Amino acid sequence: MEKPKARDPQWREKEPSYKEVVARYPDLPATWILKADLQRRGLYYTEAATRKIDPAIHATNSDVATGFRENRDYVPEGLIWKDGSYLIANFDFDQKQPARDPYTIDVVNDRIVVVDEDEVLEEIEGFWEKPDFYDKKASNGEPLRKYVQARPQRLDISMNHYCHFWDEPGEGCKYCPLSPSYLAAGKKEERYDFRYVKEALTEAVKQKGRFSAIMLTGGSQLSGSELLDDELEGYLALLKIIGEIFDGDRVPTQLISSAFNERQLERLKNETKLLTYTTDIEVLNKEKFEWICPGKARHIGYDEWKRRLFAAVDIFGKGNVSSGVVLGVELAEGKGFTDEDEAFRAVTEEAESIISHGIALAANIWRPAPKSILQNGKAASLDYFVRTYREFDRLQHKYCPNPYTDDFRRCGAHVGLDLMRV
Ligand code: SF4
Repeated sequence: MEKPKARDPQWREKEPSYKEVVARYPDLPATWILKADLQRRGLYYTEAATRKIDPAIHATNSDVATGFRENRDYVPEGLIWKDGSYLIANFDFDQKQPARDPYTIDVVNDRIVVVDEDEVLEEIEGFWEKPDFYDKKASNGEPLRKYVQARPQRLDISMNHYCHFWDEPGEGCKYCPLSPSYLAAGKKEERYDFRYVKEALTEAVKQKGRFSAIMLTGGSQLSGSELLDDELEGYLALLKIIGEIFDGDRVPTQLISSAFNERQLERLKNETKLLTYTTDIEVLNKEKFEWICPGKARHIGYDEWKRRLFAAVDIFGKGNVSSGVVLGVELAEGKGFTDEDEAFRAVTEEAESIISHGIALAANIWRPAPKSILQNGKAASLDYFVRTYREFDRLQHKYCPNPYTDDFRRCGAHVGLDLMRV
């Protein structure tokens, strides 16, 4: 595949460059800023870099679980940085007509490197290795990795592959490619049979020393006697399976789900060994949230979502509750902020109102994902992401210095939380 070209050839003249941003923030590691920019602009592997990826050793993206990628070549699931941190690299950016030129992953003097405009910027330690269970099959003959996926130190279970906020036209989150990818692929199986999830988990944990946590997530399910009860029952069943595999009162687990109410949260706490709870507010501004996540706004609402987050802290404890944010989507063309300074002020003020309750923010960098409603948009400048992450980090050091989940060891998707160890 040819390296894609930016749809605006002059894009570099319109925003501060990577090097200018590095010079502006001498208190932040340049390599960390580069990681953020890789997530923003995307990355392209040369043939030489592709030859370094060995599917017998490395975790490659075969698109089994998500259907997000258009490119089905060998691409590694993630990169290992020289400082030992991870960067997920299978993410969904526009590979046909990106807003900006992606970075190039190449090989120079037998080293894997990040290149931009013919300049080597960084050396990469390597690619994520695949776990042993990826080569094994479930009792139905399907690969176990279909049911459970792995980050370097974490097992991931995706419960619902379709999100019911998409049931009503126009109500799905505008940045999200999950349900459009599911529908475009003609998939019909919203949930896999938990029997095979159990087989995959049982096999995965036989690999000693490999995993330190299990994460469960999936699309929202609104049905049930009370809103979200069917989603809740699904997670209760999965968490009970996990509870049977491990001894002890609590298992290092993270549930990223819709915003459950107190009764539902109490059931999770009392009936399972769940340790941490995450519910994603996604957009740190009520007005932009209502535009970008209309389904969440109509069924639960911004203020109630926040209130349920705070209630979760009372139930699971400080440091055990976090919230995901799609950082930068508040600047999307349409009804988003038109000025990065204004967005920065609004978002960081709102961030403090959440972080001050001891809730860490796991913020992703928004880049327009193919098949999402905002797919033709343009991500914010690198300066915006760096400046905002830096402020989130200051707030987190002040109010919740030790969030248990989503740190640099476990996830590799939220570069902002890497700063917690600096
Ligand atoms: S709640 Fe929003 S972000 Fe989450 S899966 Fe549904 S549409 Fe996507």
